[in-house]
Amino acid sequence: MMILTAHFTGCGEIGMGNNGDETLAVINTLEPQTDLTLAPVESFPPYESETPRFSESVSENSQSVSESSTESESANDNPENTPEWTENPLSGEFYVNTDNVYSRIRAIQGSEKVNRYALNDIVSVIAKTDTDYYKLADGTFIHKDYLSEIPIDGASDSSVSEPRPDSPAEPTTGTEDNTLEWTENPLSGEFYVNTDNVYSRIRAIQGSEKVNRYALNDKVTVTAKTDTDYYKLADGTFIHKDYLSENRMEAERENLGEDYTSTTKNGYVIERINGITYVDGIMIANKTYTLPASYDPGTIKEVADALSEMQKAAAKEGISLYSVSGYRSYHTQESVYAGWASRDGTEKADTYSSRAGHSDHQTGYTFDLNSLEQSFANTKEGIWLAEHCADFGFIIRYPEGKEMYTGYVYEPWHVRYIGKEKAKIITETGLSLEEYYGITSDYNDCAE
Ligand SMILES: [Zn+2]
Repeated sequence: MMILTAHFTGCGEIGMGNNGDETLAVINTLEPQTDLTLAPVESFPPYESETPRFSESVSENSQSVSESSTESESANDNPENTPEWTENPLSGEFYVNTDNVYSRIRAIQGSEKVNRYALNDIVSVIAKTDTDYYKLADGTFIHKDYLSEIPIDGASDSSVSEPRPDSPAEPTTGTEDNTLEWTENPLSGEFYVNTDNVYSRIRAIQGSEKVNRYALNDKVTVTAKTDTDYYKLADGTFIHKDYLSENRMEAERENLGEDYTSTTKNGYVIERINGITYVDGIMIANKTYTLPASYDPGTIKEVADALSEMQKAAAKEGISLYSVSGYRSYHTQESVYAGWASRDGTEKADTYSSRAGHSDHQTGYTFDLNSLEQSFANTKEGIWLAEHCADFGFIIRYPEGKEMYTGYVYEPWHVRYIGKEKAKIITETGLSLEEYYGITSDYNDCAE
């Protein structure tokens, strides 16, 4: 099974709103990673097998999916529950524009894969369907209204206050009466989630399933212990006691390797400090040199400022530059890469996407601008960027014809901040960063 580890921070929120919070019917069909099974479901009151599924909230597509979704359990045996919509290939990364939304597999009964996204999570789109849904690299679908080309500023509540096109219907049955088939012993306290990927959910409420996904050391507020193995949380969902701990869990210690200082074959200082490699003072993340998962700087202010300075200068010449992708955490990259690898295989994916820990985007010094198509190079924006980015401290990180040195195909949209002085010098030589400094970018040389 593909590993989907989109990294969700701050997902311990209580009381999810209705907006963008699609109804997740039949939660016991969530395809769990092996380590996140919501154990003992037998102790739950049974779910109605007719609980509305995804298809029924997607009116424009109800015909194609209702067939499979309303059939009896035998449909589970049919893995060839293939799409009945048309897909137009499309490749690009988008930002999720709401704080709480799911992508999921359509029309595959009994094996719903559901991924929850938060504001500005990055998703890789591989197709636009003839419905309102985009297909993601992991095979799930997400409504177009939840995707944006640029990061959304802040989490303005008003941006999500409108009902979404397929926001779930209000529950029609039993929200009040069928909840208490177990005994609850009041308990109040805060606990830590002790695993990296687990769900809490409402029990036995048909058609209004609330699901919260938690990561390691998220804090949850418990209001009751039931006479089953589940604790009730303040938001009304339940979580198995085995996933709660009284203390924070010690995060797994990363092996950061030994610090060292040396010189590259071109005579520049190369040093490794706390697992991070610097050449001539420039942080390096490529196929040879990794960043630790714990290196999580976000977008670095100096770099954001340089970008905005460049954008202003460009705007004066009628050139519009905008970021379509910036900082990516180790865990986000893990999920992005897994998506591409599942579509194209690892060999091809390695030519344009980085494995986790190897991405230039994790440095916090990088932006993808405007378009992720090589044709961007021939647009007036692409030409301007190539000519002027060094004046603002950026280099085109993966220049044309340098794949054997950088390890990546030409990316005219991908700029990396290294400071004005170095950017100008390196750009003038016409060399890639790897050539200029005399370092490799090769998974076989991997310095982990
Ligand atoms: Zn990039």
